[in-house]
Amino acid sequence: MRRLKICCDASCVAAFYDRTRNNNGVWHSTRSCGNPPMRAAIHEVAAAHSV
Ligand SMILES: [Zn+2]
Repeated sequence: MRRLKICCDASCVAAFYDRTRNNNGVWHSTRSCGNPPMRAAIHEVAAAHSV
């Protein structure tokens, strides 16, 4: 199930669909927004960029 969220980066606040396994994503891109220890989700980030 996809959830539309707002990026938690105050300088970004882009809308995005949370594609993380646990629906705990808070940035629309873990590469450009924030810098969480979520290396395991890199492939999901790549998927988001392909949209
Ligand atoms: Zn963002």
